[in-house]
Amino acid sequence: MDEFSFIDSIRQSTYSQPSLIKGIGDDAAVFRADNRDVVTAVDTLVEGVHFSRETMEPHHIGHRALAVNISDLAAMGAAPAFYMVSIVIPESWNDEDLQGIYRGMKKLARKHKMDLIGGDTVSGKELVLTVTVFGYTVPGKSRYRSAAKAGDVLFVTGTLGDAQAGLEMLLGNISNDNEEAFHYFVRRHRTPEPPVGFAMKLEGIVRVALNDLSDGIASEANEISEASDVCLHLEYEKLPYASFLDTFQEEKREQWMLSGGEDFELLGAVSEKEWPAIEKAAKEAGTTVTKIGYVTEKKQSDACVFLHKNGAKKVLTKSGYTHLQGNR
Ligand code: ADP
Ligand code: MG
Repeated sequence: MDEFSFIDSIRQSTYSQPSLIKGIGDDAAVFRADNRDVVTAVDTLVEGVHFSRETMEPHHIGHRALAVNISDLAAMGAAPAFYMVSIVIPESWNDEDLQGIYRGMKKLARKHKMDLIGGDTVSGKELVLTVTVFGYTVPGKSRYRSAAKAGDVLFVTGTLGDAQAGLEMLLGNISNDNEEAFHYFVRRHRTPEPPVGFAMKLEGIVRVALNDLSDGIASEANEISEASDVCLHLEYEKLPYASFLDTFQEEKREQWMLSGGEDFELLGAVSEKEWPAIEKAAKEAGTTVTKIGYVTEKKQSDACVFLHKNGAKKVLTKSGYTHLQGNR
């Protein structure tokens, strides 16, 4: 298939966003923001680095490439609207595979009424998929990781460690004979569903810090701590996980939950006063949200994220490594 017919085959015949003025077909796309803030993000997946065809079908790859970007929009409190796709195509990928990638993206895009409004197509040595997204927020209502304050409640949506468990199962690193559990974890790894509905219900909240869980809660907690200049305290016993994870060694489970990453849930900090509104938003969106700790003032200059477990307080580093705290 030549480039022209390829583009023709993937373009949408109708668009769902009313603010779109010009979609695929000209030198660039046009949309009108209408007194909303435009939030944009981009993420690139490289074959062999971010995914492998041994553990993912083309449509999973497409889903994931868009999902990681939607997750960034959700973490900004933005309503998804548009996406653009730049693809580097190697000879080893045939038309059917490429259509599969777009099928995966489009299915997820439809769920969120997102329109594909452009991209770029080139050939190269390995498959590289770069997705750019655009979303809208009410002016001034974008949610930053710098918004946490001492006294806040820490919360997380969904469950932790699922995606890593799924990957380990697909790689054959761990055995599992519970078919239901296998399908659950594999789905969480291959086709993550960022909690957009929940993020959209936070509009009435005065202040909330949000960060999406792409690298694991240990890493994202450190990012909030740094950006907000506060200390985060995570209470291990409160961290939510799928009951299926109980069948694995506690040590493994802890590692997946803290630093497994790619769960694409949201980590947030909000005042005690607004916590009930967070619970209400989750309920309305059909998402679970769990209080997992608290925020305190930062008194020293280095990283300040702690894990409280079995009565002991440990420092939690970005990589998920814990060690007993020194003379603090
Ligand atoms: P130009 O030469 O102006 O860059 P292209 O031939 O690259 O134009 O693209 C033509 C149209 O098709 C543009 O609207 C572009 O955004 C869109 N497009 C090209 N490649 C892709 C792709 N892989 N996915 C989605 N849209 C694409
Ligand atoms: Mg081009």
